[in-house]
Amino acid sequence: MDESKVVVQSLNKGWYDGKVAAIDMLRLDLIDSVVSGNKWYKLKYNLQYAQHNGHSTILTFGGAYSNHLIATAAAANEFGIKALGVVRGNDGGELNETLKQCAAYGMQLHFVSREDYARRNDTAWLRSIAAQFGDPFIIPEGGANEQGRLGAEEIARIIPSGYSHVAVSVGSGTTFIGLHNALPVSQNLLGFAPMKNGRYLENEIAQHLRADQDDNWQLFDRWHFGGFGKWNDDLLHFMNSFYEMNDIPLDIVYTSKMMFALDDMLKEHFFRPDASVLCIHSGGLQGNSSVAAKLVYNSRI
Ligand SMILES: *Cc1c(COP(=O)(O)O)cnc(C)c1O
Repeated sequence: MDESKVVVQSLNKGWYDGKVAAIDMLRLDLIDSVVSGNKWYKLKYNLQYAQHNGHSTILTFGGAYSNHLIATAAAANEFGIKALGVVRGNDGGELNETLKQCAAYGMQLHFVSREDYARRNDTAWLRSIAAQFGDPFIIPEGGANEQGRLGAEEIARIIPSGYSHVAVSVGSGTTFIGLHNALPVSQNLLGFAPMKNGRYLENEIAQHLRADQDDNWQLFDRWHFGGFGKWNDDLLHFMNSFYEMNDIPLDIVYTSKMMFALDDMLKEHFFRPDASVLCIHSGGLQGNSSVAAKLVYNSRI
């Protein structure tokens, strides 16, 4: 994991010319090919916390394609901490690419039914799971805790101050909250939910926001393409042409939907012509393995 690899890259002017003053991208995807993007920032404080508090094991949660799960496996391996992954869905079939890699990083996988997985924030259930594995430090799904939000604040500190808007994709909302709480009030934060009815996240987000600024953020859930992890040919086509134009690979779950949304918003004149937008590339390229054959780029960089 190498934070010094992060750069701000200007996007091809042909994409936005005349509609806004500038659009740049913060390339957090360059940190690492596995622990990429926002995941690294959310995990590092969690792993440090676990270490300082004498836990030799951490336990976390994810679906079978989860960027968080694989990033946790790789980062815990680097920290020398044992990792347990509680995976949604029944064991039985073969491991997919994501889970195979988790296992290769030494993560012990524990499969639970969807019904049990739904209890992942229930204290009593967590206690019973933790007891089975010798009191690990529990990192919620998506790194959605205090340490995760603090880590995300670090991302705000590497964002240059001149931008009128900062755009980021939203899963658990953890990165959005950290960014919001550490960015100057003058910068508008735009969040893009890649799942259906993602507006429910507004409540989750509002609970953790610094109180003095509540009118400088917005969440959009229009560009979900049928739901979390769903895509269509328009999205693939957009990813390929975005790559050809900017030399930047996007991931199919999060960042492609955000950039597609921004493309629409440019056409709809959402922004003032003097706006300058910083888009955060939050990584997630490992998730492209299922569509690799349809992309003009190798998603593993
Ligand atoms: C996990 C993830 C997100 C969402 O981050 P949250 O902090 O959970 O909102 C966004 N983009 C990518 C690429 C991710 O892997």
